[in-house]
Amino acid sequence: MSGLPTYYAQQMLNLHTRFGLSENARSLLRAHDDWKLGRISQDELGRIIKTSANMRQAIIDTITKVNNIMKKKPEEQKMCLDIIQACAEMLTALEKPAEIKGFPLMKLPVEIRRMVYGWYINAKIAKRAGAVAHPRILPKAPGCHCPQFVASTPPGHQFDLALARTDKKVRDEFLEYFYQAFRFHFTCGCELTRRFLNNDSMRQNLRNVKIHWSGTKSDEAFLLLARCPKLKELEVVVSKGTSLYLSKRETEMRRYFGAPKPAGRLPDSLGMDELLLIRGIERLTVSHTPLKVAARRAEEERASLDGLLQARLKLPRTGL
Ligand SMILES: [Zn+2]
Repeated sequence: MSGLPTYYAQQMLNLHTRFGLSENARSLLRAHDDWKLGRISQDELGRIIKTSANMRQAIIDTITKVNNIMKKKPEEQKMCLDIIQACAEMLTALEKPAEIKGFPLMKLPVEIRRMVYGWYINAKIAKRAGAVAHPRILPKAPGCHCPQFVASTPPGHQFDLALARTDKKVRDEFLEYFYQAFRFHFTCGCELTRRFLNNDSMRQNLRNVKIHWSGTKSDEAFLLLARCPKLKELEVVVSKGTSLYLSKRETEMRRYFGAPKPAGRLPDSLGMDELLLIRGIERLTVSHTPLKVAARRAEEERASLDGLLQARLKLPRTGL
């Protein structure tokens, strides 16, 4: 940039006439000055240049013309270079995409930002008391035949997390808020393991989980929950299907001792050992399947498991 606006200085020297610049070239140089002085934005300058193909051509013609003059009249070099530079800046303005001026969210205090995240999410869903986050509808995980007693996926109820696809800092903070603000329901261990697979933010930040203890991956699922550093509230739903798969320990015992009577006890179920590794829970519930009475376990079993988990899972975290 040549420092001071040049158009009016050039006009005083009668430069435009002497150089034989076209009307288009003159109005472009005037617009360029206005941009330099902050009278118009870069977008506006770009729009003026784009008004017609003649305008673009005027810039190219001016560069060529002034370059030739400079060769013939070295004493005009300073003025010629000013005009060429102005033309080059106009071409650059034409190339640049429009400036997007966003709201400086990260300059707000963190408490306000968290309120913004809350409003953002609530604007996407109908707000209701005790809002429940339902994981996105996914086809069932391969090998999953679990009944969906815990209704994790009402149709059409998904969160729009477009905000998480913005700046990395906003994404991390927003996801932290999102995973901590809502209760997440999982239909079975298969669903939980699959959702955790590529989502470390979820594992790092989940606070409140409801899960149906079911499926061939209950052991993995509970181990993953044991590794959630911020998990504070847990509801484990049991059903008759919970004891469909045996723990590794029980499978080995049966090779030598045979099946116990009665069969299908909760302590022998796949995932029991891993469930007992979870720590640091503040609110813990063990419940029956809400709907199908036929799938329910005996209340004595639920109460026994509740007693065991209350005794273990509320112990301090050990950093698994
Ligand atoms: Zn499953």
